[in-house]
Amino acid sequence: MTAVLEVDNLNAGYGVVPVLQDVNLTVAAGTITAVLGANGAGKTTLLRTITGLVRPTGGRILFSGADLRAVKVEQLVRRGIAHVPEGRGVVAELTVDENLRLGGLWRKDKADAKKATAEVYELFEPLARRRAHLGHQLSGGERQMLALGRALVARPTLLLLDEPSLGLAPKVTAQIMALLKRLRDDTGLTVLLVEQNVRGALSIADRGVVMSLGRIVMSAGADELLADDGLRHAYLGF
Ligand code: ATP
Repeated sequence: MTAVLEVDNLNAGYGVVPVLQDVNLTVAAGTITAVLGANGAGKTTLLRTITGLVRPTGGRILFSGADLRAVKVEQLVRRGIAHVPEGRGVVAELTVDENLRLGGLWRKDKADAKKATAEVYELFEPLARRRAHLGHQLSGGERQMLALGRALVARPTLLLLDEPSLGLAPKVTAQIMALLKRLRDDTGLTVLLVEQNVRGALSIADRGVVMSLGRIVMSAGADELLADDGLRHAYLGF
C-alpha cells in the first residue's frame, strides 16, 4: 500500500483549547476515506490542520512521505493537495468562469487546465449555464459545485472535502458522490471526505474513521462500519 497521507499522533487546537488528540490516520493512494462523527468532534479541525490553517502542537503529517509542516498553505495546491472548505471556497466577486480559472492559475499545462474546466462544465450543467454569473449570484448548491469544480481543475493528488453535501438537494449529493467514486476509480484520486451524510459517504468510501471529542475512536472498512449496528447507533446516529 502506498500512503498518500500519514497523520501520526497529531495534536492541535485553538489557543489553549486542545481539539485533536493523538490522531493517527493513513490514507492509501487511490482510496476514499470518510471522516465521520458528531458536530464538534474535530473533523473540520483535522482537515484544517492537515492543510496548515491550524498549527499542530504535536505529531507529524506526511504527504507522499514528505513532512507537510514545511510547506506553506499557498504551496499546497502545487504539491497536489486541494482543500474544499465547508460552505466556502468561492470568490463572490468573480464569475463562475474566473473562479474555475483560479483553480488552474498556477498550472503549467494550460491545455489540461482547459480540458479539466470543460469536464467540470460537463459534470455540473448548472455551472455551464451560469458561466458569466458572479459567485454571489449562485445558489448554495451551485457554490458547492463551483468550489469542488475549482479544486478539480487543479487536478489534485489528494482532495480534502469538508461536507460537500451540505445544503444540497439529495440528487446533487448523489451526483457528487458518484463523481468522487468515478474519479477514484478512473484517475486514482485520493479523497479524505468529511460528511454528515454517513450513508452516502460510506457507500463510496473504502474506509471510514469515526471521530469523537477530538480522537479517532474507530477506523475500519466502510462495509464493516455500515454493518456494525452498535457502532452506527453509538456514533453515527442511524
Ligand atoms: P462540525 O460538523 O460542527 O463542523 P467538526 O467535527 O468539524 O464539527 P470542529 O469544527 O473541528 O468539529 O470543532 C471541534 C471543536 O473545536 C469544537 O469544540 C469547536 O467548538 C472548536 N472550534 C472550532 N473552531 C474553533 C475556533 N476557530 N476557535 C476556537 N474553537 C474552535
